[in-house]
Amino acid sequence: MKNLIVANWKCNPTTLKEAKQLFDSIKKSAKNIKKSEVVLCPPFVFLKELSFFKKGSLVFFKLGAQNCFWEKFGAYTGEISLPMLRDLGCEYVIVGHSERRKYFGETNEIVNKKLKAIIDAKLTAILCVGETQEQRNNGETEKVLKEQIIKAIKNISCSKFHVSNVCIAYEPVWAIGTNNPCDHEEAQKMGLLIRKIISEIYSRPVSQKFRLIYGGSVKGDNAAGYIKEAGLNGLLVGGASLDPKEFLGTIKSIE
Ligand code: PEP
Repeated sequence: MKNLIVANWKCNPTTLKEAKQLFDSIKKSAKNIKKSEVVLCPPFVFLKELSFFKKGSLVFFKLGAQNCFWEKFGAYTGEISLPMLRDLGCEYVIVGHSERRKYFGETNEIVNKKLKAIIDAKLTAILCVGETQEQRNNGETEKVLKEQIIKAIKNISCSKFHVSNVCIAYEPVWAIGTNNPCDHEEAQKMGLLIRKIISEIYSRPVSQKFRLIYGGSVKGDNAAGYIKEAGLNGLLVGGASLDPKEFLGTIKSIE
């Protein structure tokens, strides 16, 4: 199984010109990437151009969206559906990111609707879960992760979860954008806990097969430990993915 490296550009950059420049610098310096599957998640408005830009060149990476709506079409002002995303060349969709939960009121129930829709659309979901600093301090980490996962995959059968290649990203909220990454040992512990939760809901074989990645202040100098020491299957990179040198350094450190 290849490592999954996901670049979450969030609400950056501001212009299409800058987005193309960023894409181009990553493309130019990314050679001989063999052990990683790299997914770039730019803002929606750049997806079309970047998928054109990607076509015809021997680009190794895939495109993903940072969010989606669960209905296919209709009177839902401002929303972007999964058929639209597929049409733009997206293969992956991030769902349940803590910034969506915090700033846009996304509940576990909404995450569940979106996850089901992503699976039905035959795209690959990257389901983000993670506790806040306060929840960790209160000893609620396990409870929070359990609740987020159980509610997110409610009414999704074991085979659907397995066949649709759902990936879970452990993203402790306190580590996101803080320069305070979760250490490798703790990430390994949390990874085992997440696999145990999935094993209790589905089965042990399924719990061993899905991709489990880490996100939260990942950079070139700490990336390798999440794969080599913590035994995780990839990384979700926010801030550092906007800096081609840092992002490439991150990928190369685990090659
Ligand atoms: C993220 O946005 O999911 C993330 C991990 O951000 P950062 O790498 O900046 O902490």
